[in-house]
Amino acid sequence: MTAPSESFAPRREEPVFARLAIIGIGLIGSSIAHAARDLNLAGRILLYDRDEAVRRRARELGLGHDVADSATDAVRDADHVILCVPVGACGEVAAEIAPSLKPGAILSDVGSVKNAVVEAVLPHLPDGVHFVPAHPVAGTENSGPDAGFPSLFLNRWCILTPPEGTDETAIARTRRLWEGMAAIVEIMSAQHHDMVLAITSHLPHLIAYNIVGTAEDLAAVTQSEVMKFSAGGFRDFTRIAASDPTMWRDVFLHNKDAVLEMLGRFSEDLALLTRAIRYGDGETLHRHFTRTRAIRRGIVALGQEKPETEKLRKS
Ligand code: NAP
Repeated sequence: MTAPSESFAPRREEPVFARLAIIGIGLIGSSIAHAARDLNLAGRILLYDRDEAVRRRARELGLGHDVADSATDAVRDADHVILCVPVGACGEVAAEIAPSLKPGAILSDVGSVKNAVVEAVLPHLPDGVHFVPAHPVAGTENSGPDAGFPSLFLNRWCILTPPEGTDETAIARTRRLWEGMAAIVEIMSAQHHDMVLAITSHLPHLIAYNIVGTAEDLAAVTQSEVMKFSAGGFRDFTRIAASDPTMWRDVFLHNKDAVLEMLGRFSEDLALLTRAIRYGDGETLHRHFTRTRAIRRGIVALGQEKPETEKLRKS
């Protein structure tokens, strides 16, 4: 059988890590397991999830080389450990595995919020273990071990937020792992990450959750009409609003300040648009929509999204 990933990234001759442990076998954990194995990024890959049914399913799917029955068994002797659990669970998992991490190991995570994860994990970090937090800016609305696929990170950003003074070799090896999965790596502070992601990811999700809820609450619009006429922009919101509730609850609870700051700015700008509509100020509306159209074209130019015409041709 040929590796499905051969088409999207080269397979390494030498693995980046001898032993990789993945804690949490959801969309992100299973995607890393697929990619790392297909692309020979780790000599041996061990997985663990607290849910026994998920562990069973991971074994059926053949994810990694082995699925351990405890987090400590999974991380023992690992060179690189990735926490792929919801943001709010990272601290407790770090506390559980800390005594089993070997000196020189690199601990990482994939949380969508970084500052809260750093604060929750650092107090448990044993001497001689390096912490290199990561956030792959890639995902789908699906969860669980069946949702993963090896090319999830292809051409997507992966942001590393190593605390000051982190060992440079540990950062470089973590970078190599993500670049091996065809991600584009960028390094910034955890605080900066949380502010940027609040506007580019967290607020859009909040808006989607809100608008889909509002549409459903409207007494005059039956649910079937919402479905029937959903092509007019609403359908994209429903996809985003189908994202994992636990993950997103944790994102908003742990990036509270940055999200509230962005929500304040958003509300002010919305008030300006509301006013333009109320007073028939077409010039303001047109100017605003022209500016935002340019932003969309910029994202397409950066290769982070395909133009709609190309998507339609492919589907
Ligand atoms: P997911 O599909 O819901 O999987 C998370 C898995 O972790 C679940 O099986 C969960 O089990 C398990 N888990 C929870 N607490 C645990 C613990 N204490 N010990 C061991 N396993 C535990 O989630 P995901 O989408 O892969 O997200 C994982 C992380 O990636 C999150 O931090 C998220 O912020 C980040 N992320 C997600 C995306 C995305 O689009 N999905 C993108 C980038 C980053 P239970 O079901 O029993 O809780």
